[in-house]
Amino acid sequence: MTDQHDPRDLPESVRRIVDEIENEIGDNGHAPDASAPPGPGANGGIEAAVRQILVEIGEDPGREGLLGTPGRMHRLYHELTAGYHVDPERLINRAIFEVGYSEMVVVKDIPFYSLCEHHLLPFFGSAHVAYVPDGRVIGLSKIPRIVEMYARRLQVQERMTQHIADFLMDRLEPKGVGVVLEATHLCAAMRGVRKPGTVMTTAAVLGLFRRNDKTRAEFFAHIGRPAPGA
Ligand SMILES: [Zn+2]
Repeated sequence: MTDQHDPRDLPESVRRIVDEIENEIGDNGHAPDASAPPGPGANGGIEAAVRQILVEIGEDPGREGLLGTPGRMHRLYHELTAGYHVDPERLINRAIFEVGYSEMVVVKDIPFYSLCEHHLLPFFGSAHVAYVPDGRVIGLSKIPRIVEMYARRLQVQERMTQHIADFLMDRLEPKGVGVVLEATHLCAAMRGVRKPGTVMTTAAVLGLFRRNDKTRAEFFAHIGRPAPGA
């Protein structure tokens, strides 16, 4: 899915989000190019499809309040899926350091907003990410960006949880990784399938976090949640 477009082809608003995820604040990666073409999907396809949805649900796409809606949704969907265009190499660029530190590193309560791929409705909540280094650590600010890269795609919560864990395991090669996501899904809450406010929790544990009960228990204690099966 990634890198299917020349990065120069991204709409400016999407380019800006990708830049924010890839680069530290104040780090001049590559400045958005205002003269760049509007980007993928700029052929009016999304606009036409949204107008058709409006017609199908009995609305009038020509009424004043809806005139700008197809264009707004076009921009919105490109922004909410900007994670497809993030280059992981740029994201972690120069931010992995050799360190003797070998205790668990925990970053918790990382807010995220994503779109469920079954309904294109938001699911949102908090991510908690931990790893035990094996001679290398990653800059702390990078972990929320990794979450953001995966959140800004069409997702299912279980896969997003696993992908964050796999990414850290592959790139950092730590002794282990633990990831917990807690999220409310509007597709469920709004349709009354679950009670509003019901939070779905998913977890992915790799390496030491999978093998070692004490490591896993330490992680869940850090984030103040009961360990699965405990
Ligand atoms: Zn859904």
